[in-house]
Amino acid sequence: MPQVSFATPLYEVIGARSPSLRRFEKMGIRTIRDLLWHFPARYEDFTRTYSVAELEPGQMATVRATVEDVHVRHSFRRHMSIVEATLGDASGSIRAVWFNQPYLANTLRPGREANFSGKASISDEGELYLNNPTYELLRLRPGMREGEDADGNDGQEFSHTGRLVPVYPETQGLTSRGIRFAIQQAFRRLPPQKEWIPEAILESFSLPPLMDALHAIHFPRTAEEAAAARARFSFEDLFLLQIITLQEKLTLAAQHAPSMSVDLEWMKGLLAMLPFALTPSQKRSLWEIIQDMERAHPMHRLLQGDVGSGKTIVAALAALIAARNGHQAAFMAPTEILARQHFETMKTLFANFEKNREAAAGDDAAALPTIGLLTASSALVRYHDGLESHITKKEATAKASAGAIPIVFGTHALIQRNVAFKNLGLVVIDEQHRFGVHQRAELLGKTAAGHAPGATGVLVPHFLSMSATPIPRTLMLSVFGDLDLSLITELPAGRKPIDTKIVPPAERAAAYRFIEKEVAAGRQVFVICPRIDPAEEDAKDDGGAAKGAARPASPARQRALASALELKSVKEEFEKLSTEIFPDLRVAMLHGQMKAKEKEEVMRQFKDHAFDILVATSVVEVGVDVPNATIMMIEGAERFGLAQLYQFRGRVGRGAHASYCFLMTTTAAHATNGRLKAIVEAKNGFELAEKDLQLRGPGQFFGEQQSGLPDIAMEALRDPELVRHSRDAAAALIKTDPRLARSPALRRHVVEFRAGLHRE
Ligand code: ADP
Ligand code: MG
Repeated sequence: MPQVSFATPLYEVIGARSPSLRRFEKMGIRTIRDLLWHFPARYEDFTRTYSVAELEPGQMATVRATVEDVHVRHSFRRHMSIVEATLGDASGSIRAVWFNQPYLANTLRPGREANFSGKASISDEGELYLNNPTYELLRLRPGMREGEDADGNDGQEFSHTGRLVPVYPETQGLTSRGIRFAIQQAFRRLPPQKEWIPEAILESFSLPPLMDALHAIHFPRTAEEAAAARARFSFEDLFLLQIITLQEKLTLAAQHAPSMSVDLEWMKGLLAMLPFALTPSQKRSLWEIIQDMERAHPMHRLLQGDVGSGKTIVAALAALIAARNGHQAAFMAPTEILARQHFETMKTLFANFEKNREAAAGDDAAALPTIGLLTASSALVRYHDGLESHITKKEATAKASAGAIPIVFGTHALIQRNVAFKNLGLVVIDEQHRFGVHQRAELLGKTAAGHAPGATGVLVPHFLSMSATPIPRTLMLSVFGDLDLSLITELPAGRKPIDTKIVPPAERAAAYRFIEKEVAAGRQVFVICPRIDPAEEDAKDDGGAAKGAARPASPARQRALASALELKSVKEEFEKLSTEIFPDLRVAMLHGQMKAKEKEEVMRQFKDHAFDILVATSVVEVGVDVPNATIMMIEGAERFGLAQLYQFRGRVGRGAHASYCFLMTTTAAHATNGRLKAIVEAKNGFELAEKDLQLRGPGQFFGEQQSGLPDIAMEALRDPELVRHSRDAAAALIKTDPRLARSPALRRHVVEFRAGLHRE
């Protein structure tokens, strides 16, 4: 048999005409490597061999027995064939039954000895039998004839019985037995492959070497061996991720960015004109950003602060620095609503500057750049003299590429859709955490490629991202490890904590009365409608349930369904509130399927207090700033994740008034939900983020976007210690050998892993 390598196509092992080939492909398994990295989901413990007499009802057990008798029956009524065998050992005999596998009668001929692993069950007649056991023939030793006592052939390696038997994530028509079989064939023809993790690192963390681990994760002798193997692969993925992250950092450090000078007097003048004093950590963050922008290497920084901590102003000041240095800044937000809001913030800031022009250090301090808003639906410019006008998107794009708009606000389409900038010096991205590794790299690649034709040459813009969702430390160290961190740790003075309450159905009426009172006092209210899981909804309507179970909808369809259901719930809630509950109040509705223009309009009117209550989907989750809103009512709160609830709550408590968050639960029982309790008690978003990571895993942080990470890495990210270890190991290695010249196997493997991250 010719040898194979990890890269060998699967068909060379299982045969090009094997019907399984297509099924493997369906699971994304095309090569030996794919196959061997298809890890078991769990193991079934058939380690102990029982004698027939020892078997007890309900037991999962292995017996070693000889086939005494076998026959096939056909049940025409039930359209099936039944193979029945009598299995015997020295202690007695037992019946075994298989359905629809008539060919078994040819293999399990009388006299053959085999291991049988399965569940000891009780028949209707009260008789003990083995139900559909997995079997494995005992190998005949040379010279031994069939039917002869095969006892004593110890040393035979079993893969389906008499051991910890791996159970795989399966697909239709491909059973764990089939997968095990293919894996064994692959192992038989695979010579030992070179280890890629340096030996010293494996040793210091007591991790098994590659081939041992690979074998042990599929066919462990003990549960400990399986765990050690899994730990190695978890470590490996995190370790590779860390290496990539650290190397990216080195690459950035080698790139050139426009060095921007910051005139401190001018900056002080600007700060003096703000309507408030910056908090100490806003100041510190701004200072860190200034120091970065003064360098001739690209800044790569994450500005993180609790909701409402005032990140926007810090980023806006950074944009003004870029503009004053003759560079452009692109200021991007995940939604059009937010992009517009940032644009408006800047305008307000400018209006304020103008009002205080006399108080400023000089005319120069108040010289304001032209700013623009460019989204999929509209384009706006505010010229440096304060005039504002709508222009076409084409004009806006032309102006941006001519460098005539120093600060451009927009959605990510700004960069993704090839808007050319004449001399882009700074890229600001709001709500950074929504991007997985893959998207982030792409975005950066685009900025790094420098869309400015020639003008900036090889200069890479500075990069500042912001996140209001606290990113747990483990993720910060790994997935976001290439970013430097500035933290805003306190809220502006005078903010009151948000009074958070879990509201079971019985207290709903009281909550409505409270809302009435607040609105009468001039305040405004958000009502968030629940995410509805389409699978749940399917189960509700009878006819669809069975079908739904047989054929799960594709992820895209699931999302479409979820969004349709969310919309339905918003519309229903809007009807109910505007006609039944609050007929006298002004209620509006906001959801993701409205046109961007309509959304903006509703949002603007809500901000202008044209409505009292805004019923919305999770579109208001991020960033929206309406200081007069004091109540956040979240329907079906138990359906949302912690980080998301935290974000919602952050929409209120932004002004001077006391604010409230009502977590409305679907049933009284939900009111004891641990997640909801955590949010009530949470003082600090970081603590909460760590908890969420433990509860729901890191997928949460990447929303519907793919993180690009393999499953095992996602799982491993829950383990802070493992993250720390992988980080330390990678840092030590990269420090002495940044390009991995001395570890060629690792270097090649990193390249492969990186390619994997970018594969869709
Ligand atoms: P976030 O960090 O969540 O993006 P914003 O930047 O939207 O928060 O700021 C929230 C509100 O706080 C805004 O209305 C902003 O004007 C205000 N703000 C920012 N910094 C301060 C400060 N130092 N003192 C008082 N208010 C501030
Ligand atoms: Mg914000």
